[in-house]
Amino acid sequence: MIEPDVLGLKDELVQLRRTFHMYPEIEFELHRTSKLVADYLESIGLEVKRNIARTGVVALLKGNKPGKTLMLRADMDALPLQELNDVPYKSKIDGAMHSCGHDGHTAMLLVAAKVLASRKDRIAGNIKFVFQPSEERFPPGGAIPMIEEGVLENPKVDMAFGIHLWNALPVGTVGLRAGPLLAAADEFKIILKGKGGHGAYPHACRDPIVAASELVLAFQTVVSRSVDPLESAVVTVGKLQSGTAFNIIPETAILEGTVRTLNEQIRGVVKKRMERIIRGVCEAHEIDFELDYKDGTAVLINDAELTKMVRKVAEEVVGKENVVEVPPSMGGEDMSFFLQKVPGVFYLVGSANPAKGLDKPHHSPYFDIDEDALLIGTQMHVSLVMKISGEDA
Ligand SMILES: [Zn+2]
Ligand SMILES: [Zn+2]
Repeated sequence: MIEPDVLGLKDELVQLRRTFHMYPEIEFELHRTSKLVADYLESIGLEVKRNIARTGVVALLKGNKPGKTLMLRADMDALPLQELNDVPYKSKIDGAMHSCGHDGHTAMLLVAAKVLASRKDRIAGNIKFVFQPSEERFPPGGAIPMIEEGVLENPKVDMAFGIHLWNALPVGTVGLRAGPLLAAADEFKIILKGKGGHGAYPHACRDPIVAASELVLAFQTVVSRSVDPLESAVVTVGKLQSGTAFNIIPETAILEGTVRTLNEQIRGVVKKRMERIIRGVCEAHEIDFELDYKDGTAVLINDAELTKMVRKVAEEVVGKENVVEVPPSMGGEDMSFFLQKVPGVFYLVGSANPAKGLDKPHHSPYFDIDEDALLIGTQMHVSLVMKISGEDA
């Protein structure tokens, strides 16, 4: 159920989302967006800190009753992508688009803050509203610098919650999962250095293309032979570059790719195995190599007890039959770093409506959401706070 004070702010909620949608900003350069966010939060009487991790914003609401400190997080960044939708609120910025729904995340958390500020008397403890830059661009992402700048301290955060609008689920549903929900998303780059020369005289060369080809195939055995079949992992080579002409053996080849895993132990297994394969293949072909392996987002793990509580709240908001258990996904999210420090839950609010053509995947130039999902997300934030304050929604 959507409560009257939330429902009454529907127009404002949609307007805010559309404003963010029309003026998307990317990575840490969210100057317009973060100013609007901070001004809004100040206008409803909250203590606001600007320019955290460059353009992040944090606001504190002190409830009138004693209690814990709860953090609600929204990411605010868009993607470097040209919007192809033909809608009145289409992006006005060339080459930038909110095609992941973060415009909605920002609007929902702002309106939730407004509703909660008006219910101060009923709130136990503190609510910290955290608006994060650069979720999409990792490394470094916005979460780590925000933590380094003390977002989880003063007052110390006891638990954290975040929402992603989700076009793989229909509007009217909420998706949840206890334990691992999203993957550790690592990135690697391998530079192979051989000895170039004439394509007709390979014996006088050391061919990096042959070694690169063997590496791509050998990597396929990491998941199939070294990872427990009951666990999950992905090794993808997404970029392979070498050579300039049909009759030249090049000096170098470059491979780039991603590793996705759902637990730290498997992450270690994959990393070690890849290193051994690279060393072995390069040794066999007398190729020198450089490996640059960058740890990406951590595995996102939802706290089991708090997930139960979010489930209860979701059942009250959308009805028991509309709360779905979602499988883990190999996507990455830097909300995981907050959840490494404090227990919490990151969950999904369905935003697709196939009948209206609003079911395009995230990061598509045609991505758009059913805006009714915004009310559900806002109500979830609000009801969760009330639940933790000891009220039943
Ligand atoms: Zn995204
Ligand atoms: Zn996203």
